[in-house]
Formats: sequence, C-alpha cells, structure tokens
Amino acid sequence: MALLNLVIAPNPLLQQKSLPVTKITENTQKLVIDMLETMYYNKGIGLSAVQVGILERIIVVDVKWPDTDKPSNEQYVMINPEIVQSSEKQNDYNEGCLSFPSESVNITRPKIIKVKYLNLGGKEEEIEADGLFATCIQHEIDHLNGITISSYVSPLKRTMMINRIKKIKKNMQHVVQ
Ligand SMILES: [Zn+2]
Repeated sequence: MALLNLVIAPNPLLQQKSLPVTKITENTQKLVIDMLETMYYNKGIGLSAVQVGILERIIVVDVKWPDTDKPSNEQYVMINPEIVQSSEKQNDYNEGCLSFPSESVNITRPKIIKVKYLNLGGKEEEIEADGLFATCIQHEIDHLNGITISSYVSPLKRTMMINRIKKIKKNMQHVVQ
C-alpha cells in the first residue's frame, strides 16, 4: 500500500478526459488499493484516478466512513462508471474536492441516479444511488470527463478560487507540486 500524491488545481490534468479501462490487471488492483488509502488519509468521501495523476476511468467512493471513522461496508470501486438513469428531482450540495483544498461550490444535480460499472473482479454491476451518494458518484464521474467544481462557477470566481489554492498549495504535503 502506498499513499499517492494528490493532483491539486491548477493542473492541466484535471481538465483531461480519462480513458476507459480495457483490462483489469494487477496494476489496476494496486492502484485502487492506493486510491482508497489516499482518499481515507485525506478525509475524502470519493476520489477519481485522475486526481492521483492516472487518466483511467476509475473512481472510489465511501460516503459512510466519516460516521464511523473507518472504512465502511459501503465502499465502492467503480471501473468505467456510466450513469444510465437520472431522476428529474434535483438536489444540491455544497461540494468540496480534494483537488480544490478549502474550497466548495454549491452544485445542483439529479437526486437519484442509476450507475453501471465494472467491479474490481471485472463483473458488471448496476446500482441505484440517492442523496449524497448520488452526488459523490456524479462528482467523481465529472472528474473522468475533465469537469471539476470550478467548472460550475463564473470565470471570475474560478480565478479567485485558483489564486487562493496557489497560496496554500506550496505548503501542502503529499501533493503534486
Ligand atoms: Zn473532486
């Protein structure tokens, strides 16, 4: 297991589209374990591979762990995740992001989604997600498409956001400088 360095904005990687995983290998398994460790270490509830510098369509999500302060039994690894259905009912959350430390943006998204993905064993699964869980999955899939929380604010706000992050980034550890 290894703690991976986080890609922090501004970084062009965060605007790139990640590629589908064509084969789940030992390296994929290792990457996922490291992503989970990195997510928990940084107190995140979701992480996409691009945030550790790997442009592959892989996300990990565990929205329950902050309640118990240890990995919950609702830890999800999703490979090539795809939203196949979204509710008309919307929800908004003030979303944070490990790539945008100390920032948050209020984003409106469908409240309930159905998502299809491959698990680590390569088996196709489909689940329904609601509330924070649904928001988190949509946030992480955004990352795979080069979309971040800064995509949801005006250019002026985005510039201010990036300037604030630049100031604190220099003093951060375990990040890509
Ligand atoms: Zn994020």
